[in-house]
Amino acid sequence: MKLIKNVTVVSPDVYMPKASILVDGDIIIKVFAPGKETPFTSEVIDGEGLMAMPGFFDIHTHGTLGADVMHGEEEAIRKIAKGKISEGVTSFLPTTLTAPFEDLQKAMRAVADYAENRAYAKVPGVHIEGPYINENCAGAQNPAFIRLPNTQEIEALNNLYNISVVSLAVEKQGAMEFVHDMSKQGIMCSAAHTAATYHQLKSAKRNGLRHLTHYCNQMTPLHHREIGLVGAGIMESDLKLELICDKIHLSPEMIQLIFKVQDIDNLMLITDSMEASGLEDGRYDIGGLAVNVQEGVATLDSGNLAGSTLKFNVGLRNIYQLTGIPLEKLVKTTSYNQAKSLGMEGIGKIEAGYKADLVLLDNDFEVVQTYIDGELTYDAASIQEHQ
Ligand SMILES: [Zn+2]
Repeated sequence: MKLIKNVTVVSPDVYMPKASILVDGDIIIKVFAPGKETPFTSEVIDGEGLMAMPGFFDIHTHGTLGADVMHGEEEAIRKIAKGKISEGVTSFLPTTLTAPFEDLQKAMRAVADYAENRAYAKVPGVHIEGPYINENCAGAQNPAFIRLPNTQEIEALNNLYNISVVSLAVEKQGAMEFVHDMSKQGIMCSAAHTAATYHQLKSAKRNGLRHLTHYCNQMTPLHHREIGLVGAGIMESDLKLELICDKIHLSPEMIQLIFKVQDIDNLMLITDSMEASGLEDGRYDIGGLAVNVQEGVATLDSGNLAGSTLKFNVGLRNIYQLTGIPLEKLVKTTSYNQAKSLGMEGIGKIEAGYKADLVLLDNDFEVVQTYIDGELTYDAASIQEHQ
């Protein structure tokens, strides 16, 4: 057994300084309030001055450190999984791009291979973004491979590895039947790269859609005669919104507005990070399109944003600084809401019975240590020593 003591436990609706977390194997056994007697354990970690949070769950990431899910290699997924633990991410959904079926197959196999020999962050499923999107809202998705929603295609991919989310434009021909089919199979549909009207979104919701992909980006804006999908994200109480809180994809004021009007239970931080994340400015590639990264902002030659270089812990720091909402509320947006919406149990709380997937952060939200299934998998101090 392992005891992480003297930490400030930050978990949904819990803020407990000087607490201790008892871990047995991959499970949290008990959280001890300050002053309570803790049992003797073979291993004690003193987390003095640190916050302990449930490991982050990034449900939308294409890559980091030069690796992209669409490279279709186990090594690329491993590299992303390794990079992500330095951001405090203990689970992520490798996210694909608009691409030919064969390339999606390769990506699915790569994720399955990594999952079999997992060494770093967990991959509970895959997020399929595109290819069923609107040509006029493609953003950095390659328009050459856009097609109509196809249930058989997703079923074939789902046989290679578990698909958790499909992001699509709900105005596409056949989209409603597709959303209905996916929902029946327990796959979450999310509206993305879409020019749908509010009423089309309502229909998709009736068929089971519950997420809006990178809310506000590449979706119908708010207009006073047609509130669009941005309006839907404010209006509806049963939609969950993915948010890229890098202050670029959403301006600081928009982040403040969203946190003011929407219930915090409906907000989910994502990175939507691409391969240039964690690397220098320069020329990169996304799904066969050239990307220019300048001061951390990734754009196509057209000027469209092309994913982010955001680190998950920085997104959390941004919303904390912008909203001032107590951390025991904000922490819900980092894993608990995502896991709950996708029906994944044991993720998102520091509580007896939950998985010992934990991140220890300093007061500036820098990641100090990351634990997966109770094992130390990232340690900033030991990495510095080796440099
Ligand atoms: Zn996108």
